[in-house]
This record gives sequence, structure tokens and C-alpha cells, in this order.
Amino acid sequence: MDDKMSERYDLAIVGSGPAGVTAAINAKIRNKKIIIFGYENLSNKLYLAPKINNYVGFYGISGKDLTEKFKEHLAEMDIQVTYERVDSIYAMGEYYALMVNDKTYEASSLILATGVSFGKPFKGESEFLGRGVGYCATCDAPLYKNKTVTIIGYNKESMEEANYVSELASKVYFIPMFKGDYDLNENIEIVNDRPVEIIGDNHVNKVILKNVELETDGVFILRDNISPDQLVPGLLVEDGHIKVNRDMETNLPGCYAAGDATGRPYQYLKSMGEGQVAALNSVSYLDRLSRQK
Ligand SMILES: Cc1cc2nc3c(=O)[nH]c(=O)nc-3n(C[C@H](O)[C@H](O)[C@H](O)COP(=O)(O)OP(=O)(O)OC[C@H]3O[C@@H](n4cnc5c(N)ncnc54)[C@H](O)[C@@H]3O)c2cc1C
Repeated sequence: MDDKMSERYDLAIVGSGPAGVTAAINAKIRNKKIIIFGYENLSNKLYLAPKINNYVGFYGISGKDLTEKFKEHLAEMDIQVTYERVDSIYAMGEYYALMVNDKTYEASSLILATGVSFGKPFKGESEFLGRGVGYCATCDAPLYKNKTVTIIGYNKESMEEANYVSELASKVYFIPMFKGDYDLNENIEIVNDRPVEIIGDNHVNKVILKNVELETDGVFILRDNISPDQLVPGLLVEDGHIKVNRDMETNLPGCYAAGDATGRPYQYLKSMGEGQVAALNSVSYLDRLSRQK
């Protein structure tokens, strides 16, 4: 763990889509020390929307233009998005510990605004989680020294993880789930095929693809989103969505959720309204905490 990171934030927001950005703006207005994690495009679901007709005041705007407006708003308020994926979060009693690669961040309160992922888990994925299947290759790479690792990569960041793993593992297969230029070390074998199932006995030993089978000791599945209960152990999830009340409180004290992650309808303004409610209630929670001290 890295001590440099252990300065404590009042509030950590995970996700830079409409819900997370709205939460960050409202918490900043209330003078809280915040950190928001996400991506350069903020949200691909926003960035890629061709034409938006239900965003009040901006009839017919494109997702790209709206993203630009969000970015200008953040810059105006001096809010920088930390371009990192949070791998896991642990409730430590008085605070939350957020694991990001080899770093740890601390925050007294938390807003989960991670959106939803449409991808269904692969057959065998949940069964072998922790027994050869993982979601953070850089975290677990040392376990696979001189072994064979398969990486199913959904984004550009997954290539950086693959490159890192290839320095330790004896063999790395990379299965790209996106189109584009692949920037991978020479000793990585790209397998252009569709994964179907992960199999093994006590531990993973094979990935079955549509056309080939790969013998492997480990499989890392690197998506943008991690299912919320994998991300925060102990978080109550119902039908794939984080369970919240009208105050956007989850079952964990000081932990709120907003946006698509809490359930349907999947829409911008619903997500943003929830982000605002979550931020304001997080502020009240923080104020209560500081009065208790
Ligand atoms: C093509 C398309 C068109 C759409 N058109 C409309 C429309 O016209 N009107 C409308 O109201 N809605 C529309 N939607 C739906 C809308 O995009 C979503 O409801 C909205 O983006 C949800 O916002 P959110 O903030 O909850 O989540 P998201 O926008 O999904 O943002 C979540 C962000 O958090 C990031 N994240 C997740 N996990 C982590 C982690 N562990 N660490 C760091 N970052 C993380 C994600 O990568 C993502 O960037 C459309 C969706 C699509 C795909």
C-alpha cells in the first residue's frame, strides 16, 4: 500500500457519467473535499448518443456536445476527474478504502455512480472468481509469475494491464472485445475469437472460445464496469441494481448510489437527479460525522 495516497477525502465518487458529475458539482458547491474517478470521455453512453431529445433545455443536442458542456462545467468549478478505474472498495468502519491498481485512497463517504453494464458474465466466470478468474490483472499479476494468463479486454486500458502482466507471466493471450489499434508487447498473442466459457476443476485451466480452446492458469476480464457487489463487498444488490431508498442511501453507512446503477429507467435526467440527492445527503452525513467528533 502507498502511504502517499492516504490523505482522506470527504467524499469519493465512483463513475464520471451524468450521475457522478452531478454529484461532484453539488458536493463541491457545499465545499467538500472530493475525488471523482472515471474516464476521459466521462461516459461512453453519453459521448456516443447521436441525438438527445429529452434533456430539458437542450433539444436535439448530440452526446458529444453535451459531454463538452459537462467538461466545461467541471473545469469552471475546478473539478478534475481522476482517470482511473476503482477495482474494489472496503468499508473500514469510519471510512472507505478504495483500491486503484497498487494505490489506496480513503474517503469518509462514497457515491457509487458506476452505470450498468449490459454484458452478461461468461459461463464459469462467477464460479471461478477468485480461483483463476479476476478483474484486476495488475493487482494479481505476481500470482502468475511464469504461468499462462488470458486477458479478455474491453477497453484500451486493458492493453496496459496486459503489457504489465506479460513482463511476469510466461505466456499471455489477449482477446480483444473492441475494435481499434492494438498496442501490445510483442510476446503477447492476440486471439481474435469470441469467449464462450471458462472451465477447470478446483482452479481455472481453460478458456473455451468459439473456434479454439486456450490452456491457461488465469483469466482476467477487464470491463469498464465491475458488478456493484464485487466492487463493494457487503453492498446489497437486488436484480442487478444497487438497493437504495429515497435518500439514495445503500445498506452501508455513508455509502450512496445514483444513476443507472440503482435501476430503471436508464435516462440522463433521472441519473442526474439521483446524483444530486446522493450528494446532498452525503453532505448531511459528513456534517453529522464532524459534529460527533
Ligand atoms: C446510445 C445511447 C443513447 C442514449 N440516449 C439517451 C437519451 O436520448 N436520453 C436519455 O435520457 N438517456 C439516454 N441514454 C441512457 C443514458 O446514457 C444513461 O441513462 C446515463 O448515461 C446513465 O448515467 P450514469 O451516470 O448512471 O452512468 P454512465 O453514463 O454509464 O456512467 C458511468 C461511468 O462510470 C464509469 N465507471 C464504472 N465503474 C467504474 C469504476 N469501477 N471506476 C471508475 N469508473 C467507473 C463508467 O465507465 C462510466 O464512464 C442513452 C444510452 C445510450 C447507450
